[in-house]
Amino acid sequence: MSKVTRVATFNPPNDAWGGDAAFEGTCRRGELRGIIKINQNNCVGCDTCTAFCPTDAIRGSLGVAHKISVNRCVNCGQCLTNCPFGAIEQMSFVDTVMQKLDDPNAFVVAHPSPSVRVSIAEEFGGNPGDLTVNRLYNAFEKAGFHNYDVNFAADQTILEEGTEFIRKVRYWALGERGDDLEHMAAHPFPHFTSCCPAWIKNAETFHPQLLPHISGAKSPIQMGGALAKTWAAKYVWNVDPRNVYMVAVTPCTAKIFEASRPEFNSASQYLIRNGEIPSDTPSFQDIDAVLTARDIAEVFRRKHINPLELSDERATETMNVYTGAATIFGNSGGVMEAALRTAYFILSGNELSNPDLIAVRGYETDIVEATIPIPLKAYDGKIIEVKVAVVNGASRNIKAIVERLIDDRNKYHFVEVMNCPGGCVNGGGQPVRTMGTSWLHPLLPLPLRA
Ligand code: SF4
Ligand code: SF4
Ligand code: SF4
Repeated sequence: MSKVTRVATFNPPNDAWGGDAAFEGTCRRGELRGIIKINQNNCVGCDTCTAFCPTDAIRGSLGVAHKISVNRCVNCGQCLTNCPFGAIEQMSFVDTVMQKLDDPNAFVVAHPSPSVRVSIAEEFGGNPGDLTVNRLYNAFEKAGFHNYDVNFAADQTILEEGTEFIRKVRYWALGERGDDLEHMAAHPFPHFTSCCPAWIKNAETFHPQLLPHISGAKSPIQMGGALAKTWAAKYVWNVDPRNVYMVAVTPCTAKIFEASRPEFNSASQYLIRNGEIPSDTPSFQDIDAVLTARDIAEVFRRKHINPLELSDERATETMNVYTGAATIFGNSGGVMEAALRTAYFILSGNELSNPDLIAVRGYETDIVEATIPIPLKAYDGKIIEVKVAVVNGASRNIKAIVERLIDDRNKYHFVEVMNCPGGCVNGGGQPVRTMGTSWLHPLLPLPLRA
C-alpha cells in the first residue's frame, strides 16, 4: 500500500496573470506567475528544496523562511515534491474546473498525459506503477468529462519532431539544399527537444543562445488543444468549438504555465481565419485549464469517485487511439526514442528491427549517450552515425550539463532535456510520498532509487 501526502493548494489570485505591461520580469503579458509558492508560516528554513531547484530560484538563510524568485522559477515543482515539511503550495484550478463541469453549455474534455495513468492509483491507495488506463477514462466520464488522450497528440508530436530532425540531417549532415530545407540554415545541430515547458523556460531565461537549436514542435498537450478545438470539435464531437473546454491532466506543474503562454491560441486564430467562428470572437487559449495528477484526484474525491473501483473495460474510441511510442514520452529518453524510430524509418526505408532503443533509456547518470547507425536509402545504404544525448536526473545539475553541451555543440545531433529526474513520471504534479517524489534523484542513496 502506498502512502501519499496531501499538498496544499491555492486558487490563482487576480493578479496571477500580471498587468498590462508587455513584460514583467521574465513573464510576458498573460503568463501565469507564482504557480509554486512557499508558505512563510510553514517553512522552517531547512534548505532542502534548494538542492532540487534547477535555476537557483530559492533564497533564504538557514532557519529562516525561504522565498522563490518568480523571475528565476521555471515552475517545475521539484522543490514542492521534495520539501520534507509540506511548506510549498501549488496554484490549482480545481474550483474552476468543478464549476465548468456544472455548466450545461460547456463541453469539458479531460486530456490526460501518459504518466497520470500510472500515478493516479497512488492517490487512492494503489501501488506506484499500477496502470489505470480504462479505469481512468471511466472515472473522467463519471465526473462529467469527455475523453481525449494526450497520447493521440503525442503521436503527432513525434511525426512533427521526427520530420523536422530529418530535414536537419538532410541540410546539415548530408549537405542537401531545396526549398523545403532552406529554413534549416537558421536551425543548426544539435537538435534539442521542446516538449518540457520547464526546460523551455530555463533555456529562454538562462541560455537564449540555444533557442535556434530547439525544436519548433509544440508539446503533445498543446498540439492536442489545437486539434480538439478544430478537427475534433468539427469531425468527432460535432460541437461548437467555442464551447469546448480543454482540461490537461498532467504530472507537471510547469504545464500550468505553458497553457497560459500567449502563442498557444492557434485554434481561435485558425477558426477566425477560416470563417468558422465570427471574426470578433475574443481570442481563446488552446488549453483552458491544467490539473495536476494530485488535482484530478481531488476532483474525483469531491465527486466521490474512486477510479480503482471502476471497470477496467471500455470500447476503443477515436480520441483514445495511440502507439507505444506515445506512451514512452513519460519516461526520460522516451521523446528521443520515439522520434528516432520515425527518423530511422523515413531515412532508411525500413522499420527498426528492434524498436526498443534501450541505449537512450536510463536515469542512473546525468547524461545518457548513444550512437545510432542509420543506413540511408537515398544514398545506397551509406551509414550515418546519429549521436544522441538524453539529459535526465537533471533538475539539480541541469545548469552544468547545459553549459557542457554548449561547449561541445558539435558533439551531438539530437539532445533530449527533461527537467525532472527520470522524466515526467517524476514530475512536480505527481502524488507526493513522505520521502518526496524524487526518489530517483542522484542525491539519494541507491536503495531509494531502485
Ligand atoms: S524544504 Fe521546505 S521547509 Fe525547507 S527551506 Fe524549503 S520550503 Fe522551507
Ligand atoms: S524547484 Fe522548480 S518550482 Fe521550485 S523554485 Fe525551483 S524552478 Fe521553481
Ligand atoms: S520533465 Fe515532464 S513533468 Fe517535469 S517539468 Fe518537464 S514536462 Fe513537466
